Amino acid sequence: MNKIIVLIGAPGAGKGTQARLLQERRGIPQISTGDIFRDMRTLDTPLAKEVQAIMASGKLCSDDVTFRIVRERTSKSDIDGSYVLDGYPRTAVQAEQLETLAKEQGREIQAVEVDVPRDELLMRLTGRRSCTVCGEIYNIYSKPPTSEGVCDRHPESPLSHRADDTEEKVTVRLETYDEQTTPLLGYYERSGRLKKIDGTGDIENIYSALNDLV
Ligand SMILES: [Zn+2]
Repeated sequence: MNKIIVLIGAPGAGKGTQARLLQERRGIPQISTGDIFRDMRTLDTPLAKEVQAIMASGKLCSDDVTFRIVRERTSKSDIDGSYVLDGYPRTAVQAEQLETLAKEQGREIQAVEVDVPRDELLMRLTGRRSCTVCGEIYNIYSKPPTSEGVCDRHPESPLSHRADDTEEKVTVRLETYDEQTTPLLGYYERSGRLKKIDGTGDIENIYSALNDLV
């Protein structure tokens, strides 16, 4: 049976990378709600117009509107077999709405949590530095530049540390994620549809574990 694979992982857990690999290697499309919302800004459909008005007013889209967006996107003809949802559902309410969609589409839901310990997430996120010239991403813990604080190819250019990547802000993001996601994980666990993969270590090993599950 075709599946809706719900990929769940904290910021920095690497679920985007894994979803891309599934898409490249198995042709399973990655439907990211972040991408859909970006596309909505320039689309001309009635739903896109509605979303544009909500965004212009500075509000967040309700669960109902978000559901309609996901339904519209996943009903397009380029979605044939299974697909991966990245960034949706975020809450237990949204998870219930997704059940309706799964029934309509005749797909079964498989939730997969990419599990990375808090300490490692903190290092991945707070250690990130980028070159303002070429965009190369470094990490002071796991992928440091040859000379401290500057890009290997642009030694004249100090690496930049995004304001969002300070320990304080990262901690808030991770706490928000936990608050939102704990009920969601519980929801899938109770219905026996939650699987966990270890999100630490080599990207290929993580992919291999994910590939076996879906
Ligand atoms: Zn550079």
